[in-house]
Amino acid sequence: MKFDLKRVATYIRRADTEELLDRVTVYREGMEPAALDLMEMELDRRGVTRDDIADHDRLRRETAILLPDGTALRCSFCNRPAVVHGRSWHKLFGRIPLFPRVFASCAVHDRRARPPTNSHDQNDPLPS
Ligand SMILES: [Zn+2]
Repeated sequence: MKFDLKRVATYIRRADTEELLDRVTVYREGMEPAALDLMEMELDRRGVTRDDIADHDRLRRETAILLPDGTALRCSFCNRPAVVHGRSWHKLFGRIPLFPRVFASCAVHDRRARPPTNSHDQNDPLPS
C-alpha cells in the first residue's frame, strides 16, 4: 500500500495534541519517518517544545505497558497507551459471557483508575 502523505497531513492537522505526542514518543517505532516529520512540525506549530515532548515520553513510559519492540500496548477502546491489562469475558448483548478475551485499558478507560466524578461515558447504562 502506498503511503498517502496528503491524507496523513490532513489527519495530523486535525489530530489532538495528546494523540500526536503519543505517536512521536511511545508509538514512534511503528511510524513512517515522513509522518513523524509532519507530526513534529505540527507540534512545533502548536507551540509544543522538545522538552514538552521529552516530558510526555517520560510520563507515558512510567505508566504504560511496553511491548518488546519498545512501543506501548494500546488501549482496547482508544489509541492511548494502556496502563492495565488482563482477561475478561466477551459478553453477548453485554450480559451473556461467550468467551474470555484479553483487554487493555488506558488511564481513561480503566474503571479502577477513573475517578467517579470524571465519567464522560454518557452511554454507560450502569449507575456508578
Ligand atoms: Zn482508552
